[in-house]
Amino acid sequence: MNSGREYEVALILGDGIGPEISGAAVAVLEATGVSIRWREFAAGEAARQCHGHPLPAATLAAVRTIGVALKGPLLAPKQTGRLVVRHGDADVTYPSVNNALRRELEVFANVRPIRSFPGVPTPFPSLDVVIVREVTEDTYIGWEEMKGPDEAWAIKRITRQASERIFRFAFEYARARGRRKVTAGHKANVLNLTDGLFLASGRDVAVAFPEVPFDDCMIDALCLRLVKQPDTLDVLVLPNQYGDILTDLCAGIAGSLGLAPGANIGARVAFFEASHGAAPDIVGQGIANPIALILSGAMLLGHLGEAAAERRIWEAVARVLREGRHLTPDLGGHARTTDVTRAIIAALGRAEGVTGSA
Ligand code: ATP
Repeated sequence: MNSGREYEVALILGDGIGPEISGAAVAVLEATGVSIRWREFAAGEAARQCHGHPLPAATLAAVRTIGVALKGPLLAPKQTGRLVVRHGDADVTYPSVNNALRRELEVFANVRPIRSFPGVPTPFPSLDVVIVREVTEDTYIGWEEMKGPDEAWAIKRITRQASERIFRFAFEYARARGRRKVTAGHKANVLNLTDGLFLASGRDVAVAFPEVPFDDCMIDALCLRLVKQPDTLDVLVLPNQYGDILTDLCAGIAGSLGLAPGANIGARVAFFEASHGAAPDIVGQGIANPIALILSGAMLLGHLGEAAAERRIWEAVARVLREGRHLTPDLGGHARTTDVTRAIIAALGRAEGVTGSA
């Protein structure tokens, strides 16, 4: 049952394959019957061309006001370079448009549920994890400098306040979603102060959630566990950089980057985006896998309180993958983005048992 409300949602189509998969996600969300008034805003290369800046102030202001957005991927820094956002008289430099968007909108938790799906070839059929990545600090604050011509430094910033906030978020998420446990990933044996503070914050917060089991794991050992015993892991709480890296590892072992959705949650704004990038190597070919962004859209519906519609999309995606007739090339098939989208919309109309969501 949908609530019958009409929601206003900001839409950023994105770069590269963004417009192709954003169109797919919008079509699937509309097919659930939830009423959404889409408000499109520019960011990325389209914005650079039309407005002279990849992150126009008007886009940021609109997303802040609306509070919820669906966002296609934006080109990575290797394609765009660093980004400067003007605040009054001061310039703030960010390492990428994505990084700027997250920090300007003050989101702090990047939530990425990644699971194996029956029908998708993987040696790890029991993978079902949720990465909760802290996105306001760590090495991705972009403080790098040359100390002479042959030496470069990067600052890794970890604070108790941001670390406790991300752990509280993760424990509340685990409790609300009935997840089995929370695991902190770190390298506190080497980075005693920074990762040490992150881990200590996790342990402090865990005391307030005695009903949610908590453990921790060195980041290298965590990679090993992910490929050896993925069923011993559930919600993974990670500083920014490890979270970025582990997402691709998890998506790869689940079968494709094209299956990994994501949410960016803050106190006032939440925006939803696939974990993958703009995939410039396949742009315009019509073969991009839309599922990660479609599932991100499902998470958006859940965030709006439309839990039944969220669950229906996860079920429809699971069904299409299990049937195996409409798979894009990244999953070993020959289907096009539009074929997969149509198949998911058709599956939405067919009832079946609950396969679960994040
Ligand atoms: P970023 O640094 O933003 O992650 P990237 O170029 O390193 O960007 P992606 O853009 O995610 O990484 O692309 C990595 C590989 O995965 C590419 O070969 C791309 O074609 C593929 N890929 C990413 N997303 C999809 C998708 N939705 N469907 C099919 N292939 C994809």
